[in-house]
Amino acid sequence: MYTLDLSGKTGVVLGVANQRSLAWAIARELHAAGARLTFAYAGERLKDKVQALTDTLAGSALLECDVTNDDDIARLFRRSGELMGKVDYLVHSVAFANKEDLEGAFLDTSRAGFHLAMDISAYSLVRCAKEALPLMPSTGSILTLTYNASQRVVPSYNVMGSAKAALEHEVRQLAYELGSKGIRVNAISAGPVNTLSARGIHGFLDMLQVARDKAPLRRAIEPAEVGRAALFLLSEMSSGITGETLYVDAGYNIMGI
Ligand code: NAP
Repeated sequence: MYTLDLSGKTGVVLGVANQRSLAWAIARELHAAGARLTFAYAGERLKDKVQALTDTLAGSALLECDVTNDDDIARLFRRSGELMGKVDYLVHSVAFANKEDLEGAFLDTSRAGFHLAMDISAYSLVRCAKEALPLMPSTGSILTLTYNASQRVVPSYNVMGSAKAALEHEVRQLAYELGSKGIRVNAISAGPVNTLSARGIHGFLDMLQVARDKAPLRRAIEPAEVGRAALFLLSEMSSGITGETLYVDAGYNIMGI
């Protein structure tokens, strides 16, 4: 059992689609520690479902934001500032690629599909950080979610591997630029978890089984393990850490075979 008091802290969380979302696991930990949260949903289609979840966390707000739209992002942070007064934490847990770009040959990736995956899964972090910055105190902390296909070949992950490589670079670049203001930027590289997005990747269940078989801990990770690592990286427990990608993958990334 751990105790961490985040009362008085506020956060903006992007990427809750349902109760399996990694963003939801992170939000639950932040809320349990006392933080108040603004959630963003991507479109009317999911609003009721996300609202039913976020209503269970007292003091939360829910706003619409499609990260391909700069005005949406600006409004999300402006309204969060009005509602909560400041933004201590930004949780960016958003990714998307067309289904046809997550199967078959990477060589067949279309220009439009490449741009879309990069826009939603990588560029959006830069834009969200820019809008969050004026609302962040000098202890502000930004977190994004990545996957090891940024560093290694995972067949079918294709264009999303390129997007995650870009995202991890952004973490380092933003950590450098925001470090003089005291603001930290980190990533969690999670092992496979059976979420809505993950199911869109061709062969995902095989990826999950390989991770279970080969990880030093001989199991897949639980979303709550990502949640607790996020709590560490967002809070001042990790005050000396920025620009880092922390693996929460039961150790899978250290293996050579
Ligand atoms: P998830 O529950 O499907 O979450 C993905 C979120 O991205 C959804 O809430 C989705 O909203 C949102 N999104 C997509 N396009 C958007 C847009 N244009 N504007 C705003 N939001 C948008 O899946 P997840 O697995 O938790 O994914 C969260 C993050 O973890 C992603 O970056 C993913 O790459 C990363 N990750 C996942 C795993 C894994 O195995 N699950 C492993 C490593 C890293 P809608 O559903 O409304 O479109």
